[in-house]
Amino acid sequence: MSADTNLTKDQPNPAVDGSELIRFDKVVKRFGSNTVLDELDFSVASGKHVTLIGPSGSGKTTILRLLMTLLKPDEGTIKVGGEYLTHEEKNGKLVPAGEKHVREVRKNIGMVFQQFNLFPNMKVLRNITEAPVTVLGLSKDEAEQRARDLLDLVGLGDRCDAYPTQLSGGQQQRVAIARALAMRPQVLLLDEVTSALDPELVAGVLDVLRDIAHTTDITMLCVTHEMNFARDISDQVLMFDAGRVIESGPPEKIFSDPEHERTRGFLSAVL
Ligand code: ADP
Repeated sequence: MSADTNLTKDQPNPAVDGSELIRFDKVVKRFGSNTVLDELDFSVASGKHVTLIGPSGSGKTTILRLLMTLLKPDEGTIKVGGEYLTHEEKNGKLVPAGEKHVREVRKNIGMVFQQFNLFPNMKVLRNITEAPVTVLGLSKDEAEQRARDLLDLVGLGDRCDAYPTQLSGGQQQRVAIARALAMRPQVLLLDEVTSALDPELVAGVLDVLRDIAHTTDITMLCVTHEMNFARDISDQVLMFDAGRVIESGPPEKIFSDPEHERTRGFLSAVL
């Protein structure tokens, strides 16, 4: 499998030099009386691969959903590529972001979900070309060329005309990865992308993601229970507990010599 190393070549924001791409500032998210994120601060540098680990319910998926604007924070701010995601500046003041602003900033973000979420009534190729044509304004030909290149990248170049239900879960997830990349996002969010798969299909999906991580400059923010995968691709691992980062560092440090008792307990349960 050969990777397209130009996946992010045409991005409007050229922040691929290690500058900050994502920033959470004192972000609070509550569901009723449950404070899920508690004044969370963290940032991700452009081009880096950051993995969020921690017990179930610690708020990891909530972070990805906030970035996709599927949820709104109760307090605090989120920036992507230097732009506020949830707010915009008007006359020197920070006001809640309008839909147009949110759409523009969100163009930089792609997400792959646990449950693939492909359009069941569209063939594989159309699943991938739909958003580039309707959102980015690509011509049908350009979008199809891009989709075919990405299907080659994920090892499914021969399945353009299949419907999602004709594919295995692993193949569907690889289409979902191609679909996210077709928008040439600066950041790819991966939410437990292998947890709905039969065990024998997991490795194929992780291999594709490893390839993308190692051969492109895309930023990745990843929630996973696959600790070997996290170790392979991450520049930084953030350990979450109760809506806060309790420990962070390079994978060799976090996995081999964690400082925090909670990290040690979590890792001994999952490794
Ligand atoms: P993780 O990804 O670490 O398992 P989540 O971010 O999915 O954790 O969830 C964190 C907490 O927020 C959990 O207690 C969960 O029950 C709660 N939660 C998440 N989404 C919702 C929602 N839409 N409504 C109410 N509670 C939610």
